Amino acid sequence: MTMICGNCSQTGIRWVGPFSNLTHTECPYCGGTNCQLVDQPEPDELETATCGCGAQQERLNAIRRQEEAVEQARLDEVARANAAADEILRQQQARQADERTSRKSWAKPSRR
Ligand SMILES: [Zn+2]
Repeated sequence: MTMICGNCSQTGIRWVGPFSNLTHTECPYCGGTNCQLVDQPEPDELETATCGCGAQQERLNAIRRQEEAVEQARLDEVARANAAADEILRQQQARQADERTSRKSWAKPSRR
């Protein structure tokens, strides 16, 4: 495993000490000791890994199709909710308009 220096980001850090009892690591570039990055991120191969027969890719496609179906269902649900809300709003506005007209026609005679 290649160790990368946390100070200067160079590779080539080496263990120092007797082979049977390595005491610390040393960076030949900046001279730092024990300065290697411990947690090197492993390349994420989940998306690209295939076994050669395409089974992995097929599985990913299946997952993607499922996610798209779920997303589509969610959008449909939102559209239905919006339509219902629009209908309620429309009914309320119609009712308010009716009330205004009836109030106006009722109030008119008393003002004359
Ligand atoms: Zn270094």
